[in-house]
Amino acid sequence: MSGTISLAKYSIGLGDRFAHQAKPQLQACQKAVEHGVEVVPVWNKSNREHTIIGSTPAETREAADYAVKALGWNMPFHVDADHINLKTVDRFIGPCDFFTIDVADWIGRPCAPAALVGFVEGHPGLLADLAIPGVAHPFRIDRVFMAQVANKYLAAVEEAARVFRCIEEKKGRGRFITEVSMDETDSPQTPAELLIILAAVADAGIPIQTIAPKFSGRFDKGVDYEGDVSIFSREFSDDVAVIAFAVSRFGLPGGLKLSVHSGSDKFSIYGPIHQALQKFNAGVHLKTAGTTWLEELIGLAEAGGAGLELAKEVYAEAFRQRQDLCAPYAAVVNIDPARLPHPAVVARWAAEDFIAALRHDPNCPAYNSSFRQLLHVAFKVAARMGNRYLDLLSAMETTIARNVTGNLFDRHIKPVFVG
Ligand SMILES: [Zn+2]
Repeated sequence: MSGTISLAKYSIGLGDRFAHQAKPQLQACQKAVEHGVEVVPVWNKSNREHTIIGSTPAETREAADYAVKALGWNMPFHVDADHINLKTVDRFIGPCDFFTIDVADWIGRPCAPAALVGFVEGHPGLLADLAIPGVAHPFRIDRVFMAQVANKYLAAVEEAARVFRCIEEKKGRGRFITEVSMDETDSPQTPAELLIILAAVADAGIPIQTIAPKFSGRFDKGVDYEGDVSIFSREFSDDVAVIAFAVSRFGLPGGLKLSVHSGSDKFSIYGPIHQALQKFNAGVHLKTAGTTWLEELIGLAEAGGAGLELAKEVYAEAFRQRQDLCAPYAAVVNIDPARLPHPAVVARWAAEDFIAALRHDPNCPAYNSSFRQLLHVAFKVAARMGNRYLDLLSAMETTIARNVTGNLFDRHIKPVFVG
């Protein structure tokens, strides 16, 4: 349908905490184009981040529009209302054209018994041995399993439909991209569960373009994947196969793809993701929200002088407030307090020491994942510094921009999309 906004095959979610890095982020997408791969930028910022920083979705839109204009980017780009729900969606309606409807809180809530029966009765085709092209073993879904899964997820899908309709009423049909996210929950969804969830999404009439399941393993903020990579690889590949199957079986939008809420820097699974995309000729949306903020700190440290002093000050303050800063992210940070250097020690560090501890280079002996994770959740400290922080971002723009673009392209875009 003309006028309908569809998400490109390859897209990357970019987080820009202080709305100063949209240009160097976009330059990373330009580099992808130079390498022959079109990767569409999606600037995302959750309500939680806006609240912590005191920023607004309109500012994210402004920064994106400015960067796109300044660099003459003539391909699509989007602004994502990340992890919104009925209570928080309002201020995102105007500035955003991509909505990540977070229904994780609704998983496991009871649904109407009649809806449950209706759902199971409505999908007899899923109850046979189901051979899905590209999946090694047929799914064996019986009525009991189907009812269990439906019981766990139907209320969540119904809520997603309510949020979707609320947005559609205000923005108009086809005028935005819909993602449904279920990643911020305790237990991962298996490929068979994903299939049943997608059947429910189709029944609910949500024209979903991306879905963010919770995958196996830990996706902690700012550090690499923790878990069995071979299990993840099979699960991801099966999920991609399930999506292709669900599109043809349930009539979901043809471009439907997985959204990986990476929490940044899941280097060890980027290879398997790339391979699965090649195998199925599939697309993916990769969210990498927090990594750019840490490149700001690296750039400030690298610039030296007042930049390095401020980076150290952010750490010292983060160290003092570590309990409070980590609280909202308790499920996705894994900091060993014994590995956190005392601020008095850090105060004596040269720029190289600060950068080596912070930069996510697993082969560097000085890399300190606890140090990095604490700073990853410490953007509130910089937000409180206000213009003192922002002015230095402007003064040291060139050094920071080089780090932002290099990090996004070399460490994220290249391994996932270019290969
Ligand atoms: Zn997420």
